[in-house]
Amino acid sequence: MSSIIQLLPDHVANQIAAGEVVQRPASVVKELLENAVDANATDIKLIIKDAGKSLVQVIDNGKGMSVTDARLCFERHATSKIRHAEDLFSLHTKGFRGEALASIAAIAHVEMKTKQEQDELGTQIVIEGSKFVSQESAVLPQGTSFAIKNLFFNIPARRNFLKSDTVEYRHVIDEFQRVALAHPNIHFTFYHNGSEMYNLPISTLRQRVVNVFSGKTNEKLVPVQEETEIVTIQGFVSKPEFAKKSRGEQFFFVNDRFIKSGYLHHAVMAAYDGILKDGAQPSYFLYLTVPANSIDINIHPTKTEIKFDDESALYAILRASIKHSLGQFNIAPVLDFERDANLDTPYHYKDLEGITPTIQVDRSFNPFSDDKETKSYSSSGSGSASSYSGSSYKKPAATANWESLYVGLKQEPDLAIESAEISFESEEVTASLFNDEEVEQSVQNVYQIHKKYIVSPIKSGMVIVDQQRAHQRVLYEQFLTNMTVHQASSQQLLFPLELYFSAGEMELIDELKFSLINTGFVFEETNANHVVISGIPVNVTESEVSIVLEQLLSDLQEGIPENSFSQNDSIAKSMAKSLAVKTGTSLTIKEQENLVNGLFACKDPNVSPFQKPTFITMRVEDIDKKFAI
Ligand code: ADP
Ligand code: MG
Repeated sequence: MSSIIQLLPDHVANQIAAGEVVQRPASVVKELLENAVDANATDIKLIIKDAGKSLVQVIDNGKGMSVTDARLCFERHATSKIRHAEDLFSLHTKGFRGEALASIAAIAHVEMKTKQEQDELGTQIVIEGSKFVSQESAVLPQGTSFAIKNLFFNIPARRNFLKSDTVEYRHVIDEFQRVALAHPNIHFTFYHNGSEMYNLPISTLRQRVVNVFSGKTNEKLVPVQEETEIVTIQGFVSKPEFAKKSRGEQFFFVNDRFIKSGYLHHAVMAAYDGILKDGAQPSYFLYLTVPANSIDINIHPTKTEIKFDDESALYAILRASIKHSLGQFNIAPVLDFERDANLDTPYHYKDLEGITPTIQVDRSFNPFSDDKETKSYSSSGSGSASSYSGSSYKKPAATANWESLYVGLKQEPDLAIESAEISFESEEVTASLFNDEEVEQSVQNVYQIHKKYIVSPIKSGMVIVDQQRAHQRVLYEQFLTNMTVHQASSQQLLFPLELYFSAGEMELIDELKFSLINTGFVFEETNANHVVISGIPVNVTESEVSIVLEQLLSDLQEGIPENSFSQNDSIAKSMAKSLAVKTGTSLTIKEQENLVNGLFACKDPNVSPFQKPTFITMRVEDIDKKFAI
């Protein structure tokens, strides 16, 4: 039989290699930025179009390439960074495989311009799908510019595999941030579709972190500094009170290279042990310097994992130094999340001013008139304010002035109670859980147990409601209704709120803006890193706004649903989740009643938005049976 094995032509081999090196536009961004850093640039510009799908360009003022190198750099295994296998253990550069440019050139249109300082003229090369199209001399500034156009133009399957621009842009930002955070001694600028997204001047490490993540970051940071024989640690961790729900801002750099390490992450979390709420995530920006020969970065082509010689020592040092920093800055002892919630002021009293006792004389009081003193509920018919009839004393309407703050508040249509089994004696339907009317209660129909469940008698027996899930359901339906009928109620803020976000988060907010406006948010201004909010949904308080938005961004980080219905649904779910009363919260009787009534006025009261049961019922017969034994 004849021999059948052949050596693959270079362009095929390069295309195969490209599969490993270039997964998406962000991979190109990473490789080009790292090459520019390796070329000792002090000024690096990143320009992308359509999340990098149509253009990724990196312009640097680094050392440039000679005419020969300019051509050679596109060959596979062409690198100026290592010569011998031993060099792998004393690496001081980001790249070393000599694979990136060959791979990129195999699957895109590339234009390169480069000039060394000592040369009169530079070189300009065009290469498309591994084929050299042209090479010319040209008058150029010192440094190198790579423009990568039409990524995957010759591999439609890969191109179709790319995610939406939002998702791809998010990945590009991640790569940009990683390189920018590792090199505060380099000036970085970043343009997307013609707008400047970042402009990061040469600065200290702290300023770089702050410039990348908005001005508000500064107050959150606690410095960490430790020098030992095996590692030098510097950087910052966030104060526990600024811990986030998502794992967004967590960075390890080892010898100026961004790395991921579950093990070191664990060390950081261990340092925060006991001072973070469940599930809360601190931010950290930690820079470790270790001898080049004590690590092996040769694990994966995209190189975010590395092996350390002495991982357990590193763990201990990292944990101890962060603990020390948190302690030194007096952060640890002040926090006590374990405190007894009974000592907390119930939240509806929180913002009330103290009232001076006064004596009121009801001059019209006639003990012999037959006015009934019994107080009974009546349906208010209004979405939020309930009123009580039959009472001889009526509170003056103190809410009149507030009405002007509510824009577009409309009466909710009466929502039909469908659950045949659940039939309450009172029929008040109210949308607001926290109603501040202070009316005495004659019959108590609800009872809270373990700050978790609300028990209430119903005609057939009793119902036990899970307060957190029930409230999620109520809020979820409110938000959804508001969003779909575009009639959201909005409360105007006297002082607009200014909130800072990273560029990636801003991109998400921009995408979600329409739906957010439908929930009742009013955006006065949005720009590259902050929003000014002048109106918020009625069921959100000012202090909750940033929590709600942060949760929303973290819930939707993985990708925004394409159609507007599921987008609304995700937003409503996320907001309901963050705003619902939690297990462990004491509720007043009024709040309990409003919650139970609100739940059974829902279209789908049986389950929470996350499909968990909201209540169970127990029939009198079932209770009888238990006693019959
Ligand atoms: P590696 O970075 O692993 O060496 P690359 O394919 O990324 O491999 O680059 C190949 C070579 O091209 C580099 O070793 C370097 O000599 C040269 N090179 C690439 N980008 C630049 C740049 N921006 N400035 C100067 N030289 C560069
Ligand atoms: Mg490289």
